[in-house]
Amino acid sequence: MILNNHKEKSADLSLWALAAQKLMEEQKQTWSLLKNNYDGLAGVVVRDLEIDGINIVIQNNPVRIISTSADVSDATINKRPCFLCLNNLPAEQKALEYGKHYLILCNPYPIFEEHFTIVHKKHIPQNITANFDDMLDISEKLGFRFSLFYNGPRCGASAPDHLHFQAASKRILPIENDVLQLKKSDEKNIIRSDGLEITFIEEYLRFGFLLESDSKSELLQAFKLFIRSFKNISKPDEEPMVNIISLFEKERWQVFIFPRRLHRPKQYFAKGENQIVISPAAVDMGGLIVLPRQEDYEKIKSTDITDIYSQVTITKEYFEYLKNKFVAAYKA
Ligand SMILES: [Zn+2]
Repeated sequence: MILNNHKEKSADLSLWALAAQKLMEEQKQTWSLLKNNYDGLAGVVVRDLEIDGINIVIQNNPVRIISTSADVSDATINKRPCFLCLNNLPAEQKALEYGKHYLILCNPYPIFEEHFTIVHKKHIPQNITANFDDMLDISEKLGFRFSLFYNGPRCGASAPDHLHFQAASKRILPIENDVLQLKKSDEKNIIRSDGLEITFIEEYLRFGFLLESDSKSELLQAFKLFIRSFKNISKPDEEPMVNIISLFEKERWQVFIFPRRLHRPKQYFAKGENQIVISPAAVDMGGLIVLPRQEDYEKIKSTDITDIYSQVTITKEYFEYLKNKFVAAYKA
């Protein structure tokens, strides 16, 4: 009997992941641009780097140039037809309906062999404060196979005006495999309270927080505290800059949060040989650095990567501020 229940549960857990995979298979048969771009991934080169004991992967991926170099200024965004709105999707694009409000789409410009965009049905702005709940829900439903990403409207989203998440196969981003490494052996960077565990991500080239729990309400509360505190030290009237990666495994969420201070590093705007076309988002903060230009892939050095992370991650001072907010709220 117990075995039976367990089986039913597993089947249920895999439901959305399998439906998404099926959609991808269908789209590869009916949409040649998408098929070509996924086939092209086989030829995409990657290189592993170790910087101060931290694993980084760099990927040279030409199809990402559109997203990496997207003009996300208000003026441009307001003028262009939104490419995530149902009416503007390519004729070949098919969608999987997720609940009342979302559609799961195959991303035609992939970084991963399985890469989806989960878009809200309405044209409403990218906003994590109001939609973190949905993010947890979707990452749970897709968690059998996929991780979910969120990019803030000012730090990586190429459609800041249309709420969306991305999903990709789990355990490809280096940070997802580094959880044990993130926790110091003396546990000085960990706090625990009521089934919630918070790890301060330090000494990792970029700052961040890892929230782990099997309780959605605990995560919602911790996130609320985080975003409210971050708002205090961010530009008024704008969402604080944040990238998020959420995984669901063994009935538990793992949520990586990267507070940012800058969208693009100075190398993006440099001219000639000094230019590196890079636009860090959740994937890059997770340790997979996407470089659309081959010349950048060839010339980028460990010191450039360290420098780029240090420019775009939150300052040490602000990180300490956010850390102290968690400590004050949770440490007994
Ligand atoms: Zn839209």
